[in-house]
Amino acid sequence: MSYAFVINSGSSSIKFQIVDPAADASEAPLVSGVVEQIGEPNGRLTVHYQGEKHSEQRPIADHTAGLHTAIKRLEALGCGPSDLHLVAVGHRVVHGGLVFSQPEVINDQVVDMIRDQIPLAPLHNPANIDGIEVARELLPDIPHVAVFDTGFFAHLPPAAAIYAINKDVAGDHQVRRYGFHGTSHEFVSAQAAAMLDLPDAAVNQITLHLGNGASAAAIRGGEPVDTSMGMTPLAGLVMGTRTGDIDPGVIFHLYRHAGMSIDEIDQLLNKKSGVKGLAGVNDFRELRAMIQEEDQDAWLAYNIYIHQLRRFLGSYMISVGRVDAITFTAGVGENDRFVRADALANLEMYGVKIDPERNALPNDGPREISADDSQIKVFVIPTNEELAIAQKSVALVADHR
Ligand code: AMP
Repeated sequence: MSYAFVINSGSSSIKFQIVDPAADASEAPLVSGVVEQIGEPNGRLTVHYQGEKHSEQRPIADHTAGLHTAIKRLEALGCGPSDLHLVAVGHRVVHGGLVFSQPEVINDQVVDMIRDQIPLAPLHNPANIDGIEVARELLPDIPHVAVFDTGFFAHLPPAAAIYAINKDVAGDHQVRRYGFHGTSHEFVSAQAAAMLDLPDAAVNQITLHLGNGASAAAIRGGEPVDTSMGMTPLAGLVMGTRTGDIDPGVIFHLYRHAGMSIDEIDQLLNKKSGVKGLAGVNDFRELRAMIQEEDQDAWLAYNIYIHQLRRFLGSYMISVGRVDAITFTAGVGENDRFVRADALANLEMYGVKIDPERNALPNDGPREISADDSQIKVFVIPTNEELAIAQKSVALVADHR
């Protein structure tokens, strides 16, 4: 059997999976693991293999040490690169800028081009590049592929992609909407079309990726026509720790009157805002527990979250025209029935009706939660970005042979 090694490298962590690209979306990967707290004294490696969890704790100096430790542990467990037929290493890369709309087989020139996109994603692309460079060094005989989070949205209609900002400045600095979570929106929208028993091109839909980061996408006939994240993943819906859309004038105000530096405002908007900034927690399980204890901040945070979600939903129903399906995915979307019910409450006149019993079923695979008489189907479809990256990487490598 052939496998893909999928790597999602962050600033202080490397998540990895070994995936059979032909596997069913709901199947667990052969191996999954994470190296955490890279560069900190209490580094940790965790590997899940054959139903068992293996962990070790020790300082992990950098990404090279992290991936090295992980591969050594995989070899010791008998599921390392020398034990398996690995046909591709797939890397999640956050920002492809205007350059990458499709996955790319990685060579030195592609790495340089990903590096050129760093100004657009200063928090993400450097860590992605670290992961790529280390993995190419440790696994030199396997083709590496970059799969871009922005790729699915590369051909948004100009009216949705271009901001109403001075066009010369925008052109000089590549300021426009790129959109993110593309691998996830593409994956669940294809599954939704399959659940409707229709080709992608015949389906108009809205996909809601509600995790710690959150975004919505409007997809007409298989082509995205709008998405809520923008030049960066800060825009759009209220998220775990990010503001989503706010008046950009807030930034000038804080800079001029709160004595905050640009970096501090960046931290505030990206890490200390959203549900966490409003209620003190960003996990929706904790938020729900607080709401049940009548915590007013938690209740308000939840209402702001739902309000913003419904604004996007409403506008995307207009963008898409006839809507065939609305799909929830990611941690909150797959698991929080309250969010789903409140997001779609009182929309019967627009053809949307949830079945409360179906909505309350546990998250154990793709399912329909709309009532039989709902014109628009509502689905919950677990996302599986690693499987999607594995499939894209293996397909591209096969094409290149
Ligand atoms: P993700 O970014 O897709 O991994 O989603 C992570 C988020 O999903 C967490 O921060 C929680 O807010 C949410 N989440 C995960 N499991 C549950 C659950 N059982 N109920 C409600 N929310 C959940």
